[in-house]
Amino acid sequence: MSRFFYLNLKFFILIKPVTKTALTPPLSRYSFSVALEKKGLSPPLSCFFNQPVLICGYSGTGDKMKTVIMGAGAMGSLFGGLLTLSGRDVWLVDIWKEHIDAIRSRGLTLEEKGKAGNIHVNATTEVASIGKADLVLFFVKTYQTEKAVSDALVLQKEDTVFLTLQNGLGNEETICKRVGPRNVVLGVTNHGATLLGPGHIRHAGWGKTDIGELDGTETDRLTEIAQVFRKAEIETEVSSNIHDLVWAKLFVNIGMNALTALTGFKNGQLLDYPETLRLMEALVSEAVEVAKRKGVRFEGNPFDHVRAVAEATRQNRSSMGQDFDYKRRTEIDAINGAVVKEAARMGIPVPYNQAITDLVKANEKRFGQG
Ligand code: NAD
Repeated sequence: MSRFFYLNLKFFILIKPVTKTALTPPLSRYSFSVALEKKGLSPPLSCFFNQPVLICGYSGTGDKMKTVIMGAGAMGSLFGGLLTLSGRDVWLVDIWKEHIDAIRSRGLTLEEKGKAGNIHVNATTEVASIGKADLVLFFVKTYQTEKAVSDALVLQKEDTVFLTLQNGLGNEETICKRVGPRNVVLGVTNHGATLLGPGHIRHAGWGKTDIGELDGTETDRLTEIAQVFRKAEIETEVSSNIHDLVWAKLFVNIGMNALTALTGFKNGQLLDYPETLRLMEALVSEAVEVAKRKGVRFEGNPFDHVRAVAEATRQNRSSMGQDFDYKRRTEIDAINGAVVKEAARMGIPVPYNQAITDLVKANEKRFGQG
């Protein structure tokens, strides 16, 4: 049942007396908000029905984990929207003024499974206006991380946690350089989202999110973040081997993203031609060699997993494919390019990853993005 059904239900609940049965699971984030409100634990929640779009507003800061999301594009807005719906104190930060203005004036439009709702999320282009944060979540593109971290320093207090759920390698290192490793947490998410226009996103994929400390310890702060995410219906687990999980997702991006960009294929089409299938296998095999040498542990054959993901997402165009479609800069340096860099350090030849990185970068230059 979709969240918008719950919005309907919540509207219903607000105009009828709330019964105990109405608050039992699986009423999810809406019952949680209603329950808080009933107990007087949160500021007033206003939610009204406005067909065909539902507008749900949460006004207040009744939560102790103040969360700031740096990069309110597809994924940042998705997490920001879901966390806001669960009653969290969330701020979206983006440098794209038109997008932030749209969110501020009419709310964030979230499409999900054929339905749409508008969520009133705090949003700003002025990160310094927010004050200090408990959790800072990075959802900028990998090549934007350095600047976003530098902008986010005004949010830092002693115990602020900086979490990256971005794709690719090296994001946590970039963050550590500015805020110190003790404050950094790494993660990987299998949710997917698409930016449709200013203030408008689509929730396009569902999956688990894993978070972990850089040294693998299981800490209270991880448990707390996971709980907050789960209450927002973002299925989250605490991992003691988060680097391995980052690599597991990297294998998928290595096998599919650049190939779909260069061929114009959808993900599933890579499986339909022996030539692209061979290239996928070669790219992933090289990355696996590098990962093994780094001590990364993985279960099963990573290439089988990449093929399974290509099949499951057959109709999708990868994010790098979409970057090519719109002649935008890609995240190649953090994906195939990162494997080339690691391999060079270890003296391992990775000619397929080198060639594909060069091809993508040559095209970026052609787009005027190099
Ligand atoms: P996106 O391009 O939609 O959003 C990035 C946003 O960051 C943009 O709106 C941009 O204006 C903003 N930004 C740039 N610099 C900034 C700064 N200094 N301060 C604040 N905002 C800034 O990208 P996305 O698709 O949401 O992806 C974000 C990250 O998440 C990437 O690393 C991507 O690989 C990863 N990811 C994406 C998906 C997906 O389905 N889209 C899924 C999993 C992971």
